Amino acid sequence: MQRTEDGMIVISCDFTGEDWDEVQPMIEGHQGSIISLKALDLAIDHASEQTEKFTCTMCLRHFAAGERAWKPDPLPANANPKAVICWDCIRQADRSFARDEDTDWDRKIAPDDRWS
Ligand SMILES: [Zn+2]
Repeated sequence: MQRTEDGMIVISCDFTGEDWDEVQPMIEGHQGSIISLKALDLAIDHASEQTEKFTCTMCLRHFAAGERAWKPDPLPANANPKAVICWDCIRQADRSFARDEDTDWDRKIAPDDRWS
């Protein structure tokens, strides 16, 4: 997500609330949504079937209850209170970070037919 502070645009992770320090890898989704590598790591380890319908912060798709996703719990103070990432976006980010030569990241989710 973004906010303006002293006329400057500050980019921060929707899921951890941490401002981008120009070092920590982050990936942008729709409408300025952002997930940091640190948040992705948590998302992969803690994604679970959601008990309620939700809209993914990253891709804006709507999902029914029972779909796998992750939202920060507890929610960090500066995070987006509606932050939730669907399993597809988690997989896509996992692959994208692994392909980025500037990012020290090995895929945590095994490739399959869809996410090779
Ligand atoms: Zn998504």
